[in-house]
Amino acid sequence: MIKDKVVIITGASSGIGEATAKLIAAKGAKVVLGARREDKLKEIADAITAAGGQAAYRAVDVTKQDDNDAIVKLAKEKFGRVDAIFLNAGLMPASSVSALKTGEWDQMVDVNIKGVLNGVAAVMPTFTAQKSGHVIATSSVAGLKAYPGNGVYCGTKWFVRSFMEVLRMESANEGTNIRTATIYPAAINTELLDTISDGATSEAYRKLYQTYGISPERIADVVAFALDMPEDTTVNEFTVGPANQPW
Ligand code: NDP
Repeated sequence: MIKDKVVIITGASSGIGEATAKLIAAKGAKVVLGARREDKLKEIADAITAAGGQAAYRAVDVTKQDDNDAIVKLAKEKFGRVDAIFLNAGLMPASSVSALKTGEWDQMVDVNIKGVLNGVAAVMPTFTAQKSGHVIATSSVAGLKAYPGNGVYCGTKWFVRSFMEVLRMESANEGTNIRTATIYPAAINTELLDTISDGATSEAYRKLYQTYGISPERIADVVAFALDMPEDTTVNEFTVGPANQPW
């Protein structure tokens, strides 16, 4: 049951994270929001509270372990426990390898990979001690298939896939009952494309999203479904995208 679960969400200031925060708060979860833009988090937390929900927030840069530890601490201080973490922060400055945008490669590795690891490291001691916890992460269809023009992003999302599956298996072996759910969205209309600095790539993606993109609420529904599953069940993977997107 979602009701009364304490759920940390990273990347909660827009797109999929924002939609998920609002949906699960409306279903009775106590949400703890993290991202870098604190003003946006405040707006979202205020909207949730005004609608009768419960929310706390904190500026978090997921590349910093201290920030990840601090949001777990905040959840415990505000709501007494942590039941789930949605590791959703990410960026996609797509470009071809030959463009050698090495600074953007680093950024994707730091946020999309290290951000997930930092979040897991922050919450794992709590989940292990309470023998319960749910780690949900946003990979991408780019974590299932390779696309020319998005090599590094695809690599970071393949990492998430593999790491989450190992986490699930080890938790089962170790009897800690830490459940996992990995989500593989296709084209979802969010702010994600704003991180693309390469002009031609940006234009191509915008056309594609205009043709196919669907609302981030669709992903929020899936996260809510995963959270609603009973403790003895893990729904490991969800691939979710526009019905008319052929790949
Ligand atoms: P948005 O750009 O709308 O959201 C990205 C979120 O990540 C923002 O809240 C942003 O907040 C946060 N973020 C970025 N860098 C950091 C950081 N260093 N520390 C903390 N938070 C950070 O896009 P989406 O909602 O689409 O993205 C959410 C996830 O979904 C990403 O992991 C993305 O890769 C994945 N995804 C998206 C798809 C799509 O089509 N939209 C498809 C497949 C996967 P802030 O800037 O305030 O820090």
